[in-house]
Amino acid sequence: MFQEVELRDLALDRIRQGLCVFDEQQRLLLFNRRYAELYDLDPGQLWIGMTLRDVVDLRYAAGTGPGMPPEEYALWRDRIGIADQIVNTEVTLRNGHVHAIHHEPTLGGGWVATFDDVTERHQAEAHIRHMAHHDPLTGLPNRARFTEQLESTLARLRGESRLEDHRPTLPIGDWLVAVLFLDLDHFKDVNDTLGHAAGDALLRLVAGRVGRCLRPEDTLARFGGDEFAVLLDEQVTTAQQVAEVAQRVIDAASAPYDLDGHEAVVGVSVGITLCTRGDEAAQPALLLSQADTALYQAKTNKRGTCCFFRPEMYVALRRRKEMERDLRRALAERGLEVHFQPMVDIGSGRIGGAEALTRWSHPEHGMIPPSEFIPLAESAGLIDELGAWVLRTACARAANWDGLCVAVNLSPEQVRRPGLVELVTATLAETGLPASQLELEITEGSLLQETPATLLTLDRLRTLGVSIALDDFGTGFSSLSYLRRYPFTKLKIDRSFIAAMINDVGTAAIVQAVITLGRSLSMQVNAEGVETKAQLDMLRAMHCNDAQGYLLGRPCSGTVFEEMVALEQNTDTTTD
Ligand code: C2E
Ligand code: MG
Ligand code: MG
Repeated sequence: MFQEVELRDLALDRIRQGLCVFDEQQRLLLFNRRYAELYDLDPGQLWIGMTLRDVVDLRYAAGTGPGMPPEEYALWRDRIGIADQIVNTEVTLRNGHVHAIHHEPTLGGGWVATFDDVTERHQAEAHIRHMAHHDPLTGLPNRARFTEQLESTLARLRGESRLEDHRPTLPIGDWLVAVLFLDLDHFKDVNDTLGHAAGDALLRLVAGRVGRCLRPEDTLARFGGDEFAVLLDEQVTTAQQVAEVAQRVIDAASAPYDLDGHEAVVGVSVGITLCTRGDEAAQPALLLSQADTALYQAKTNKRGTCCFFRPEMYVALRRRKEMERDLRRALAERGLEVHFQPMVDIGSGRIGGAEALTRWSHPEHGMIPPSEFIPLAESAGLIDELGAWVLRTACARAANWDGLCVAVNLSPEQVRRPGLVELVTATLAETGLPASQLELEITEGSLLQETPATLLTLDRLRTLGVSIALDDFGTGFSSLSYLRRYPFTKLKIDRSFIAAMINDVGTAAIVQAVITLGRSLSMQVNAEGVETKAQLDMLRAMHCNDAQGYLLGRPCSGTVFEEMVALEQNTDTTTD
């Protein structure tokens, strides 16, 4: 037969919770084995009648007391009293375990306490909380966390200190909060050419480099994709300081990256907004939208730069967004047209082909020049679609031209991006235009970021049998080394030289030198923007191959161009 006490102990030890009971004098009346286990105690160390203080001292010595240093613990243990009300609490022990404790008073003035180890649940919750506030790829805070941080900074700025923020309220002064929005330039290229794993690696490297430009009290967050944000919190007192940080970030992020043996270069553009004390209207959403607007402006001005927000930017941004929408619609609804400008062989005076020039007639704003909508298409991510459309339209038209060639302009974005050779191959096959009748015009802008990929693209195009012209020669960096390195078939001298050469001997000498150089490198030379007979005569004397310009024909619709060609052929037949 079991004794009553044995039975009780047996029952107590089957309870999965730790349990102990104290009387009104804080003396231990009862405990179970699980209780001793939870606190790393030998059951023999505990005895009925010992005081609560003795028990907690044992726990502290075993490393399972409350997570506080000895001096603090000493004060705490002297103050513990009777648990005279129901209390549910969670306590982190010195060994890192978390216990959920439930106290309930007993009738006699003592209490019953139960104990559960909830460490795993706690860790899972902490993990989920971390996930909710951090970007899994880089481990940086995410947008939600950044916004919270910004909110708390702004509250401090307004003089309201938050409970969780122990820093003192700042004195009034020209103290600033700066929000920087960062976006990588050409990140998509890395993903497209080297794959997503390389893209992810790059984002982690960027996060590391940018982080090293900041102080510990600043916040760097990743908002997703290639977007990062920085909060410069304290001790920033001038816009100049902020600009310096932005420049450091740009310099650090723009240095080449080694991605598993592949070198990648990406730039970074930065939009900045500042907020001073007393700026009552400042809200996280507003500051973020301002920084975003400034970033958009920075990208439009020149990639790889920073730009401070100004209110006028909203107006410009709205107009740009509207124009982007309209351009997208024009592309989808045939609102664009390709015009053709004759290219004339100077020796024979005959039309040798035409340059395709895209026209956009906007329903409200009238004619928009390509100098405006091509950059718009680039920044709106529409250049691939637009470029492919122009190429297809021009080639399809020229396929009926009986040997005349068509020149199509390529924007630097198109040349840099993968897939150009495939696009050209497919377009030629689809339209039936022989490769020898297609000329692609590129500008020096395409060659600035000189990469083996660009050279390879141009080589492969040449192998297809397509001609390549260097457009606007003389206006860019005019590095003569490009001429030797790249397989151009033609040089097009920019019209500013043709306009100036009549009255300026120096310019005329340059034009002559370019023509001679071109010929010596077996390249055709074309003069752009010929408007007068005097210019044409001079070019003929210089042995320039062909010319383009208002004198010889303005850009016109395909039908008008074809009529011009037909007229020329008719004249030929009549004179024969
Ligand atoms: P570009 O390739 O140098 O084209 C020649 C530009 O000079 C055209 O301007 C043409 O209209 C203009 N022009 C031709 N002859 C004369 C002349 O005698 N006098 C004067 N003052 N101007 C003349 P447009 O059509 O405004 O095009 C400007 C630039 O936009 C082009 O320069 C080209 O770089 C770009 N572009 C045009 N269409 C496209 C396109 O479909 N794709 C790309 N990527 N760029 C294009
Ligand atoms: Mg051109
Ligand atoms: Mg040109």
